[in-house]
Amino acid sequence: MSRYIGPVCKLCRREGTKLFLKGDKCFSKCILEKRKEIPGQHGKGFRAKKVSEYHKRLREKQKLKRMIGVSERPFRRYFENASRKKGLTGENLLVLLETRLDNVVHRLGFSSSRVAARQMVLHGHVLVNGKAVNIPSYQLKPGDQVVLKEGSRENSHFKKWWEQTHESSNLPSWLESNFEKFSGQVKNWPLRDEISFPVNEQLIVELYSK
Ligand code: SF4
Repeated sequence: MSRYIGPVCKLCRREGTKLFLKGDKCFSKCILEKRKEIPGQHGKGFRAKKVSEYHKRLREKQKLKRMIGVSERPFRRYFENASRKKGLTGENLLVLLETRLDNVVHRLGFSSSRVAARQMVLHGHVLVNGKAVNIPSYQLKPGDQVVLKEGSRENSHFKKWWEQTHESSNLPSWLESNFEKFSGQVKNWPLRDEISFPVNEQLIVELYSK
């Protein structure tokens, strides 16, 4: 699977919004505050042009894909799975993405960004229901428990974020955490307004339904 390995701030500039791909730097030194234009030779003034409905839908899909860090084929699979489930396809899609292991690790507060959470999972720092899982896209469900491996608890970076999140009590209501045990649990499926992706999912459904 090909992955984007270029400068991530360019992706935010392309979408015209913060995608929070650089962890704590996104809160202190964000380039988007100074350089808002679309990257590339023809970027300047592009946003002022009238854009088509197709363009709006495409950009919404790209924004979501870039936030979660998946390429087109797996994203399409998520969409197909979402459309087979009962209920609204757009909401199902967001729930599936929100309950990926890397996203839950980030939302529990073990990492500064989804990218960092993905690395944590890939490097085996996380246990799910007592077993090591190194698949960032691993799908969690209510009742699943996520724990930081004992040997990783002294890592200053993980510890800093864990303490910071605990102090800010920024945890969504569908998750619960145990500060002393470095663990968290999925209590129930997230509701739409508890999902962390600021996108209009209906535009994505319209794009794929054409
Ligand atoms: Fe995006 Fe973060 Fe770069 Fe700002 S600092 S442009 S939010 S990746």
